Amino acid sequence: MTHVLIVGAGIIGTALADRLAPHARVTVIDAHLPGQGTTATSLAWLNANKTIDPGYFAFRIEALRAWSRLAIEFGDPPWYVPTGNLTWAQTEEAVAELSARVERLQARRYPARFLTHDQAHSIEPGLVMPADALIAHFPGEGFVHGAQAAHALMGRAQASGARLRTGDRVVHIVGDGGQVRGAHLASGDTVAADITICAAGWRTPDVLATANTGVPLLDAKEPGSAAPCLVATTTPIPKALRGIVHAPGIYARPAWDGGLLLEAGDLDAITDMNTPQADLDTSAADLLTRAREIIPALSQAQISHARRCIRPMPTDGFPLIGWRQEGLYVAVTHSGITLAAHLAELITREILHGTRPDELAPYRPDRTAKLP
Ligand SMILES: Cc1cc2nc3c(=O)[nH]c(=O)nc-3n(C[C@H](O)[C@H](O)[C@H](O)COP(=O)(O)OP(=O)(O)OC[C@H]3O[C@@H](n4cnc5c(N)ncnc54)[C@H](O)[C@@H]3O)c2cc1C
Repeated sequence: MTHVLIVGAGIIGTALADRLAPHARVTVIDAHLPGQGTTATSLAWLNANKTIDPGYFAFRIEALRAWSRLAIEFGDPPWYVPTGNLTWAQTEEAVAELSARVERLQARRYPARFLTHDQAHSIEPGLVMPADALIAHFPGEGFVHGAQAAHALMGRAQASGARLRTGDRVVHIVGDGGQVRGAHLASGDTVAADITICAAGWRTPDVLATANTGVPLLDAKEPGSAAPCLVATTTPIPKALRGIVHAPGIYARPAWDGGLLLEAGDLDAITDMNTPQADLDTSAADLLTRAREIIPALSQAQISHARRCIRPMPTDGFPLIGWRQEGLYVAVTHSGITLAAHLAELITREILHGTRPDELAPYRPDRTAKLP
């Protein structure tokens, strides 16, 4: 039986382990428990909402379908939350952008509609929206509780025979004569494998560098890099929100423990790898102030965590999926939550049956001649 070693138990690695395990011998290695990397801190919005590129839009639509298939297999698990996305716009520029987006999505038969205040209130009774706002709702969207999903996927993979090894780190990909044959671990052990899949998220370049290869991913350590972000969670507030909300200056959704997860693009932009915790805390307080303006129930809440998190961001924004060397495959992408279930199905076909799915053709890692 083919032995597949997966480096990384984030949403990509665990979704893959889940699909591969019934057909192959699978070992997953992670320095931490499943889903504790970027996957745990992600806004995790399932969507194809702002995707212009027609091919990538179709790919993301398939990805949303793959999640709903997976959710049926798991019996509607609580970590899959397809409760829609509410958004609004106020400035002239933002209203024009939202109007054009809803029209474009409707033309593509994507569920998108404008709402009156009363309609919006019946969907999200805990929200206060400005009287002059243009409100839109995307009922086919939702979000995933990333850490819980990764845990469940890994659990099902283990039930099919996969091995999970945590608390150890891959320090070197090993091979001979151009054929990758597994990995050396920080503990000193070596795991031999027929196929090694690097699903190490933003740390993918570090892992691949040990095999003298790479992928064009933004360097999180570059000053001004778009990879580092800030996410804050609040203390629990019952029924503050039902679904995901993109309001001007603040994104929010329910967190697993009953609080809300908060993020904002402008605060992501001032976060980098050297931002001190005190500044992260100041930004988190700003997030809470903004969120309280639209969710009055948050007046009772405090920030419980303010965390820097890092996007695995390909330089051109599209997924990086495919062989890097004989025996060495890579799967790294932004929007990895949206794409995980679909990628797992496609990659399983490619790896186990030797097919080259047409859907993956635009996302091969060698499409960019020059690595950053
Ligand atoms: C703030 C923010 C908001 C986001 N919003 C969205 C969104 O709304 N929708 C969406 O679809 N996506 C979103 N994303 C992106 C999405 O979260 C990521 O694409 C996805 O979580 C990546 O999953 P992963 O499994 O590749 O990486 P990770 O979850 O980081 O998993 C990689 C794993 O590899 C392990 N690892 C790394 N190196 C080694 C090593 N050498 N040895 C052993 N283990 C190793 C790590 O410990 C980690 O567990 C967002 C990301 C961020 C940061």
